[in-house]
Amino acid sequence: MTSGDATKIFFTALAALALVAARAAARALTTREAKKRVVIIGGGFAGMQAALDLRKTCEVTLIDKKRYFEYVPGTPAALAGAAPLSPASRGDSAKKREKTLTVPYSKALGKSVAFECAAGRDVRVMSAYVDVGGDRFEYDELILATGSHYPGVLKAECDGEAGEDRDARMREIAEAREDVTKGKSVVVIGGGVVGVEVAGELAARNAKMKSGARVILVHSGPRLLDTLPKFVSEYVSKTLVRFGVEVYVGQTYDRVGDSFVGRMNENVIEGDRVMMCVGAKPATEFLDRESVNFSEDDDDSPLNFPLDMIGRVRVDEATRQVIGYDNVYAVGDCACKLPDQMLASYAHWEAEYVSKRIMCDGDARALGKLGRYRLPPRLMAISLGPFAGVVVWGDRILCRGWCAAVFKALIQFWFIRFLPAPYSIMKRFPRMRVKPPASVILRKPLAN
Ligand SMILES: Cc1cc2nc3c(=O)[nH]c(=O)nc-3n(C[C@H](O)[C@H](O)[C@H](O)COP(=O)(O)OP(=O)(O)OC[C@H]3O[C@@H](n4cnc5c(N)ncnc54)[C@H](O)[C@@H]3O)c2cc1C
Repeated sequence: MTSGDATKIFFTALAALALVAARAAARALTTREAKKRVVIIGGGFAGMQAALDLRKTCEVTLIDKKRYFEYVPGTPAALAGAAPLSPASRGDSAKKREKTLTVPYSKALGKSVAFECAAGRDVRVMSAYVDVGGDRFEYDELILATGSHYPGVLKAECDGEAGEDRDARMREIAEAREDVTKGKSVVVIGGGVVGVEVAGELAARNAKMKSGARVILVHSGPRLLDTLPKFVSEYVSKTLVRFGVEVYVGQTYDRVGDSFVGRMNENVIEGDRVMMCVGAKPATEFLDRESVNFSEDDDDSPLNFPLDMIGRVRVDEATRQVIGYDNVYAVGDCACKLPDQMLASYAHWEAEYVSKRIMCDGDARALGKLGRYRLPPRLMAISLGPFAGVVVWGDRILCRGWCAAVFKALIQFWFIRFLPAPYSIMKRFPRMRVKPPASVILRKPLAN
């Protein structure tokens, strides 16, 4: 071979390589261009699930006021310095455990999802983009997943120091624990799942530490956990009483000085500390045009979303699309649904369904195959201290006592790692539920 031939071969190979590289670059560019832009507002159970499901097929941006995901069902135990299967303790071990409640978005999402922290900035939703304090995030599909606000320390308030900084959030929980346990008596207001768990955890802490405040649980409804079957309420009441909790039901209580006064028979309950376990409100104030900052002269104005009387976003139950908007979905606690569906598991399943819908990309055959959203059976693990609890599946008790504590620990392990809880399998189970009583359908959440 002459040196001329070698040069020819060299340049031919170079040209072929350049062609292959150009083709690959062009393909990558078209794929990126073809990818749908999905913006998700809110990174709780619902928002995180949608972001992780869609990250491979879409260009996803997650916007949250906080910088970390919080495993909210674990906060009652953290308040008592405990965790499932791990009794209350003081100092460093309690702190270590608290840290497992949160995961920074930077770690959970990796590089495949863009994260935007909206702390201290207004979030406004326009017809083609979300405006975060002047920065625009354009979308083809939008998912609203902002959940709810909860009074007190049991859920991180998103727009504050504790939302920006995980360590500040841990300190907040530790301070609340110190305050609540140093009083003579603590009144836990609300006998729903949160109140029951808080009372159970505090009573278990007293037993472990051999000291602590008297725990009094008051509930306005006729029985604890009144959205669940009666036998579940009875089991939970009996267990709490056995653990030393004083349970009062069927009365509303007002604060008068340091005491709580029952309205029906002026039954006075002394309590020098209070844990509010009622008063969840949908975190949708930024969608309410009345309270959003904008001027009629602006070149664009925020969308006018349909909200119900307490501010939850109205959705089509079959598709989870916001009424009147084909490319906007609402999932989790910010969406309008029956109160007994305000659970992490439903938030997760709704998000999974919506992700599948978005991935169908308008293809009628794929959409037909996916079908309408079908409600899976209720799955609820209620802890009553680190070694006791009850797991409800549909309207049945799946397990209780020790077994339920193991189940709850497993659920925490699973969800905090964002492992799949496949909607496609869960929807196939019969709902195993009776219709909720009318009182449940009509009941409005109590004011803060
Ligand atoms: C103390 C407690 C214990 C609970 N225990 C259980 C349990 O044992 N089992 C169970 O199934 N359910 C339980 N729940 C209910 C469960 O936590 C909720 O159903 C679940 O968190 C709803 O998930 P979500 O994704 O809809 O909303 P959330 O988890 O509330 O997440 C919403 C996210 O949106 C963000 N956000 C809010 N507003 C904005 C905004 N304007 N802009 C940007 N981001 C915003 C928030 O920072 C948050 O990260 C409990 C709730 C509480 C409060």
